[in-house]
Amino acid sequence: MSEPKSSELMEKIVSLCKRRGLIFQSSEIYGGLNGFWDYGPLGAELKRNIKECWWRSMTQLRDDVVGLDASIIMHPKIWEASGHTTTFSDLMVDCLLTKKRFRADQIEPQSGTVYKYPGAECKVIYRYVGAESKETGLKVNKPFAVLLKKGEHPEKARKLAKQFYAQGSLDQAMKITDGLVLHGEVTAEVVLEVDPQKETTEEVVNSTGYNPENGSLLTDPRRFNLMFKTYVGPQDVPKPDFDPAANLEQWKAWRRAFDESEDNKTYLRPETAQAIFVQFKNVLDVSRQRVPFGICQIGKAFRNEINPRNFTFRSREFEQMELEFFIRPDEVVQKMAGAVAGLADPQPSTLDPQPTWGWELWHKYWVEQRVRWYESIGLGRDTLVEYWQKKEELAHYARACVDILFKFTFGTQELEGIAARGDFDLMQHQKFSGKSMEYFDEEAKAKYVPHVIEPSAGVDRLALALICNAYCEDQAPDEKGKLESRVVMKFHPRIAPIKVAVFPLLKNKPALVEKAKAVRDLLRPHMSVFYDEAGAIGRRYRRQDEAGTPFGVTIDFETLGEQGPALQDTVTLRDRDTMKQERVKIGDLAPMLVEKIR
Ligand code: ATP
Repeated sequence: MSEPKSSELMEKIVSLCKRRGLIFQSSEIYGGLNGFWDYGPLGAELKRNIKECWWRSMTQLRDDVVGLDASIIMHPKIWEASGHTTTFSDLMVDCLLTKKRFRADQIEPQSGTVYKYPGAECKVIYRYVGAESKETGLKVNKPFAVLLKKGEHPEKARKLAKQFYAQGSLDQAMKITDGLVLHGEVTAEVVLEVDPQKETTEEVVNSTGYNPENGSLLTDPRRFNLMFKTYVGPQDVPKPDFDPAANLEQWKAWRRAFDESEDNKTYLRPETAQAIFVQFKNVLDVSRQRVPFGICQIGKAFRNEINPRNFTFRSREFEQMELEFFIRPDEVVQKMAGAVAGLADPQPSTLDPQPTWGWELWHKYWVEQRVRWYESIGLGRDTLVEYWQKKEELAHYARACVDILFKFTFGTQELEGIAARGDFDLMQHQKFSGKSMEYFDEEAKAKYVPHVIEPSAGVDRLALALICNAYCEDQAPDEKGKLESRVVMKFHPRIAPIKVAVFPLLKNKPALVEKAKAVRDLLRPHMSVFYDEAGAIGRRYRRQDEAGTPFGVTIDFETLGEQGPALQDTVTLRDRDTMKQERVKIGDLAPMLVEKIR
């Protein structure tokens, strides 16, 4: 079978997500809301499984990480301390022609010939009833330009320029369009002219100043803060200095201004990490943890992204899974161990934490842990890329950052960032809150503000990666053995929304149905089970293949003992990927499946 193009493949994936109830557009019956998504029955299970696997690997399978579940809305000072109010912004640009908005750093560089115009003349031709006729015009002086790629005709640039001037430029609107009505006229025709004498051209290479979709000039980049503002109330409302009953409208405006005043303004959190820093001391006091140790959290985050895109990849509401792992500063390690082991030192064959480790090795350790976790839920190393950010790409407080990228159907993009953040965050909160963030290390006999390694992953991006990774088209025999194409979602059993489907061979044989329901009830306490008795067995398998259910259990006449006692109380267990079937005793099913899904 030939490989489908990535855009075609993505369309198939998006349509399967809707058809099978993985992901729906938010508020769909009202036309949707850009950047927001809902997870249907299968999607909700998938997300829960992802979060449970992550939580288990971080907390239950380790001694040195504990959990936190903090509020979404927090004190606004937190966002000042973290730097979000001043620096959590992206540069945005607008297309001068279509007004479409882009993130400046996402504009693909382009090369070609730029056609530049200083302005345009708008001629309005009036036609009068009598013998008299006259002509007049308006001018707009506003530079505009169009980038044409090799082979495109200059007329295209002129046409776009005319469209731009017809709409009126941003700050010098001509406000003249067709249908203009003037006194005494019978008809009016607007003719826009760009003067070809004044057209100039310039060759550009790798320019990001033009809209890749139509070549139109873009505005200069402007900063846009991505945090969603909100107002917390009610508060003690002062008395207005007028009579509200007599001035209802004035009172409403006064009240709105009060509610939205800066005093009660805060933000929906744009990341979960800050709550961990501000609760660092509380958690330390109650958990009996000692540095090095970590605090992790899963929760919603909100970013008013300029350009949500690639399905759920860049959303405005999403969930994060973040760990802040607190370590000793290198100076303390040096004092205690006499040396600090770093990347330049001979690498240990196993990455078991050592007391000599400095931040570099702790950082590398967490990169490796995270990659191994992705492998454990079905994203092979060959689907991932470790991108070590270059010095000039690092945030000002970061010492190093590794992005774990996944080869999505639409390109290789970030799944998780693992940053070595030094002591920046705790220091900032110490400064802004006036509360000490120092830790007394009994072993080192030293007081210090711990440094931190932060692996930060997105649940929704990971769900999308797992969906892209699972999607597969292959061939399977139908009832009569004839090969037909099938869509199968090859989710790893650990994260598959439904773990096992149970089918009676025929729905009109009460003994089969009764036994199948007994098997369903036997498995239910251990895993998510789907019971299906509708339609031919082949069709039922196909439906579960599309839902990504790894195992199918069929109760047939052998189960009832009709082929002799040897097969009584055995079922067929079908593997979704190989489609192989084996005979298994009912009593062995639960332990056997639990082993595979854990
Ligand atoms: P990007 O560069 O893609 O905007 P980022 O580097 O700003 O991401 P972080 O602030 O490091 O992202 O957030 C950590 C993780 O949270 C990301 O790796 C991603 O998985 C997830 N994430 C961030 N922004 C979004 C979003 N708008 N939609 C979905 N997931 C997101």
